[in-house]
Amino acid sequence: MRWSKLYAPTLKEPPSDADVKSQELLIRGGFIKKTAAGVYSYLPLGFKVLEKITRIVREEMNAIGCMELLMPIMQPAEIWKITGRWEDYGPEMVKFKDRNKREFTLGPTHEEMITTLVKGELRSYKQLPVILYQINTKYRDEIRPRFGLLRAREFIMKDAYSFHASDKSLDETYEDMYGAYSKICERMGLKYFAVEADTGAIGGNNSHEFTVIAKNGESNILFCEKCGYAATDEKAEYKPNYPESKEELKELELVKTPGTKTVEDVAKFLNVPKEKIVKSMVYNGRNGIIMVLIRGDLEVKESKLRAYFADQTLRRASAEEILSSMKIPVGFLGPVNVGYPVFADLSVKNMRNYVVGGMKEGFHYVNVNHGRDFKVSAWIDVKTVTEGDLCPKCAHPLKMKRGIEVGQIFKLGTKYSEKLNAFYVDSNGSPKPFIMGCYGWGVSRTMAAVVEQFYDENGIVWPKSIAPFEVVVTVVNVTDSKQLKIGNDIYEKLLANGMDVILDDREVSAGFKFKDADLIGIPIRITVGKSIKNGEIEIKLRNSKDVVKVQLEAKYDKVLETAKKMLNTYKP
Ligand code: ATP
Ligand code: MG
Repeated sequence: MRWSKLYAPTLKEPPSDADVKSQELLIRGGFIKKTAAGVYSYLPLGFKVLEKITRIVREEMNAIGCMELLMPIMQPAEIWKITGRWEDYGPEMVKFKDRNKREFTLGPTHEEMITTLVKGELRSYKQLPVILYQINTKYRDEIRPRFGLLRAREFIMKDAYSFHASDKSLDETYEDMYGAYSKICERMGLKYFAVEADTGAIGGNNSHEFTVIAKNGESNILFCEKCGYAATDEKAEYKPNYPESKEELKELELVKTPGTKTVEDVAKFLNVPKEKIVKSMVYNGRNGIIMVLIRGDLEVKESKLRAYFADQTLRRASAEEILSSMKIPVGFLGPVNVGYPVFADLSVKNMRNYVVGGMKEGFHYVNVNHGRDFKVSAWIDVKTVTEGDLCPKCAHPLKMKRGIEVGQIFKLGTKYSEKLNAFYVDSNGSPKPFIMGCYGWGVSRTMAAVVEQFYDENGIVWPKSIAPFEVVVTVVNVTDSKQLKIGNDIYEKLLANGMDVILDDREVSAGFKFKDADLIGIPIRITVGKSIKNGEIEIKLRNSKDVVKVQLEAKYDKVLETAKKMLNTYKP
């Protein structure tokens, strides 16, 4: 490729709407261009990086015996209605009707589709296991599309699905996938965690997330330096450590607390610490309204609540819903005489004589005690675990880091095959539902996640395995025919020897060219300039100031050898 012919509109200034570095640098470097919120084009440089990531993912899938196919993005509603996910998946699902008023979705994921696809075709246990995958566009109308490719509405995913006749076989494939995902991260030189994860709308009972460490990540990872426990905060557990109150039970009292809206307001008004207050939250799900209690200074993790009730439709009730069902404004809710089932977080269990909403505008109850003043249907762990909480396995204080989820693997069991009547015949001749696994990898998200981990003040610092080019040959002055000829010869030589190289033959200043090469993050720069008079060119790595001078010879073997050697050991 000659830079003079490259379509890569670069920007000097960061775009005004970029909230994270990857979005800024990928737009500035001419890799991607925004069409609408969460909808991007991949320009030639971006497409090249995407292709390299795709190749790595594909090679690692094929290496563990997966077979690639391609399924439709447009999927009929019927199959989603059978599993119940037409409703349960929620508003992220893009739905539309065709001209005959038949309902469709643009697939956010493909469990229903693939199970329907193999149903009746994979018949015998002798054919199993089978692992199929595709690399395809997905649609999710995210609440907040942001951070460029990290949370897009149209994005590229590798999704694999496995079919088994035994749990043992599923376990083996799950292990293989775990290994393949680790290799994908390692081939890009990424620092990552593989952590226990919540299964969310996909379902199943066992899952790991692969999370690239990055300070702008949306995932919080809790981990234990002592025993190695690691989980996302959507799932993380902890060892509860709440001292038991020794107070005498005092008499329940309804007190005036006008104008108090938040826990802080109430604590200040009544002159008590936040730890003396219990927050009452109302949730609405498949089985109606419930109230959830937690200590005033702590937060509920909704994914843990949804997992506990196995109800993905469970959502915090809106102020209007609460007003219409309970006739009370949000700040004054409480469990005393509430008339709905009350579930309480473990943080409340050892408390006595606490404060809750008075179920009457402008009032709170003080000296409240569970058991005596209201009944708890169940004690549950729904707290958001934070740094310093104790490890659920070994009680050592947990640490927290931010990261970007690039992949997630799930053991699904028979959730989809049972609902969709997808059976095979076992060795005794009886029909059994397939035991399944599913394994997603965010291909386009990976491109941004890599940038989040590898950039500096001058631009992107790509790992060599996915850099848009491995080498740039920069001709300092293209009007100097000698420089241009040598630059061109070196370019041809490297190209002929399998290197991915671009020749910067543009008629612009050397500084401008250097800046662009740094911005788009090419690992090696070969500079052909004035020093050719001394029979030399210069080679430099993207992330080092050191310049290596190489002697020019007739066939440029020394240049080739040095460039190859430097690339081999290059790390961002
Ligand atoms: P998240 O928790 O970030 O919303 P998810 O758990 O919904 O992700 P999965 O259903 O596990 O995602 O999808 C598999 C992979 O697809 C994810 O690990 C991620 O890399 C990628 N992915 C999911 N949602 C998006 C998105 N909105 N934009 C880009 N990539 C995404
Ligand atoms: Mg996930």
